[in-house]
Amino acid sequence: MLKLGEVVLKGLNRSAFENRLKSNIARRVRPYGSFDIHCAQSTIYVEPRQADCDVDGAWEACQAVFGIASLCRCRPCGKTTDEIFRAAVDYLGDELSLAKSFKVESKRADKGFPMTSIQLSQEIGGRLHAAFPQVAVDVHHPDYTVYVEVREQAAYVHGPALPGAGGLPTGMGGRAALLLSGGIDSPVAGYMMAKRGVELECVHFFSYPYTSERAREKVLELARLLTRYCGRLTVDVVSFTKIQEAIRDQCPENYFTIIMRRFMMRIAQAIAADHGCKALVTGENLGQVASQTMEAMAVTGAVVDLPVFQPLIGMDKEEIVTIARKIGTLETSILPYEDCCTVFTPRHPKTKPSRREAEEIEAKMDVEGLIAEALANTEKVTVRYHGGSC
Ligand code: ATP
Ligand code: MG
Repeated sequence: MLKLGEVVLKGLNRSAFENRLKSNIARRVRPYGSFDIHCAQSTIYVEPRQADCDVDGAWEACQAVFGIASLCRCRPCGKTTDEIFRAAVDYLGDELSLAKSFKVESKRADKGFPMTSIQLSQEIGGRLHAAFPQVAVDVHHPDYTVYVEVREQAAYVHGPALPGAGGLPTGMGGRAALLLSGGIDSPVAGYMMAKRGVELECVHFFSYPYTSERAREKVLELARLLTRYCGRLTVDVVSFTKIQEAIRDQCPENYFTIIMRRFMMRIAQAIAADHGCKALVTGENLGQVASQTMEAMAVTGAVVDLPVFQPLIGMDKEEIVTIARKIGTLETSILPYEDCCTVFTPRHPKTKPSRREAEEIEAKMDVEGLIAEALANTEKVTVRYHGGSC
């Protein structure tokens, strides 16, 4: 049973949210067998249709679906006290027997059920205490709580709920292009926007042979790790070598990074337009490196019309690393393969570049031609969710 998060607040849009969430869940649990997915009373039920369904796999996958506040793994049973008691003993007995104290908490969504919630809790609690006399009853601070929910179709027993991934269902917040590097920050930035319901299209700039095949594989692996949260992703791998060589040959060294980032933004915007993306997302973080000053970001952002979302802008590195660890991208991000940003790194990057100067430098370059060629040399790679957790 998956309890909906913010979705319930969305009033008239609610059914669109529920439908989107149901189809996201259906896609995510498909590798684990055939499940019946339906929604009632702000709860989505994911029920295995066959005995050979991989319920552990589906349970794991549902923990990463945005839009879910909490998850309960339940045992359904008939709506009689005998069946509820037997289900509780059978399904929760092992955990219950390890607790020092317990209580039963009941909810009665089926108002036709002949007992009140309190009566039901007392009845099941009394019988469980008789079955597990070493576990004390404590209704105020129990070590373990047995939940009983009497709903329309069946009664359900479960132990404590697990927190869900939160956020909004992927796809409800529109589409955006994520500039995905091999670093720690951009996968976290992608995760944070996906959590707000944004569907992502990834763009990666690749400078072969200055950056190796392994560096490219690393980025595809990061995208694959993000699919646990986002579902299937496409990565547009843009060949960036010619542009970097042109920058090296034609630009003053202190402007290398700024000009390179302006190229990245223009190309990302062109790819975004092709995919109906309404924003760009980067992993920029104020003050982290020379290209992430306000002045540098203004000069970089000036070449695009789309809004540029930088969800990490005000975070400390330690906070970003904590999220990277939680979502399982950190280990891959810290593999020591070079990124195109590190290829022609200026010794003294300009921390306060001017837009006019950047434009003057670019006026001497074939900006349009270089971009057209890079776009023509873009490879689309689809990465899929293969299950497994971090
Ligand atoms: P990250 O850890 O995400 O690489 P960073 O702190 O190293 O970020 P920069 O290298 O300055 O910062 O890059 C800033 C942002 O530009 C990145 O977060 C990412 O969104 C984008 N970016 C940088 N390099 C690439 C690349 N090779 N391909 C795609 N996007 C990139
Ligand atoms: Mg980087």
